[in-house]
Amino acid sequence: VIHAWNEKLWRMVAGMDPFPPQPLLLAGPRGVGKEVFARTLAHWLLCRDAAATGPCGSCMACRLLASGNHPDYREIRPGVPEEGDEAAEETEVRASKRSASRWIKVDQARDLSGFVQLAPHFGARKAIVIVEADRLHPSAANALLKTLEEPPAGRHFLLVTSRPQRLLPTVRSRCIRLQFRLPTEDDALTWLAGEDVGNARAALAMAGGAPLRALELQTDASVRSWIVERFLLSPDADPVELSGGIDAEKLPAVIDTLQRWCHDLVQVRLTGSPRYHTDRAQILHHTAAQADLPGLLRYLRTLQSTIRTLEHPLNLRLVAESCLIGYRNVFSARR
Ligand SMILES: [Zn+2]
Repeated sequence: VIHAWNEKLWRMVAGMDPFPPQPLLLAGPRGVGKEVFARTLAHWLLCRDAAATGPCGSCMACRLLASGNHPDYREIRPGVPEEGDEAAEETEVRASKRSASRWIKVDQARDLSGFVQLAPHFGARKAIVIVEADRLHPSAANALLKTLEEPPAGRHFLLVTSRPQRLLPTVRSRCIRLQFRLPTEDDALTWLAGEDVGNARAALAMAGGAPLRALELQTDASVRSWIVERFLLSPDADPVELSGGIDAEKLPAVIDTLQRWCHDLVQVRLTGSPRYHTDRAQILHHTAAQADLPGLLRYLRTLQSTIRTLEHPLNLRLVAESCLIGYRNVFSARR
């Protein structure tokens, strides 16, 4: 089901007659429902009894799609974990293996080209969703270029990305762009209420207004409260010891929490009220008063550049350690 805030865009797309043969580029902020939109649109294109509002959900095509067995539908994305991996114990080896496969590889692209060339099993259409299309490896993008440039009749490509500027310009220029935007706060909160998100307003603030991201952040909640409780609110905790407990899975949430916490410290100093950790206003005031402001701003810049290196952390433990120690240094100057 399309999210309420995307319905206007849906009506625009579903109203296009004839449906455009070019690939569509679904671009916009992370966490606003682009992937759901793409999948629903693909189903709608393959549905045999589609209404203007969406796929019927009960025809043979819809039933095959629901069971993941429609032969004319493909979905690819970077670095899909192997089956059974979910249950496997997280190890540094597995984590680095996964980050190394965070591309849509040339093999996947070649498979896809083969799929596109074959005639549809049913009807006259095939639908292809490429999730995180900005992660198409350049060689994969090149392998797909001809197909994207001029897809065979009835082959519909839906490219999803929150970083359209990272797509090869040659790919981007082939596509018709659908621009997604953040919903209004009211729309987002209404949806989050339906998803049973505990502190929806805070979660939404944390997610920068993106409701699906807010929901996702809930799953990071244990990491967040761990670093807040055990580190940010525990000035005597040993950063070196703590960083030993931060694995590849946790590191982004840890850095994000440090960033938001420090943003709040700056915000509290400058405007008096925090933006993210609104439930910690008092302790933030107390902590901000002890911080060296220029040092805090420098630390925030360091965190920002650390994030850019996260996809290839040379030494996870050292990265985590320097993030935690860097935070402490913001205060040591004043002691
Ligand atoms: Zn149907």
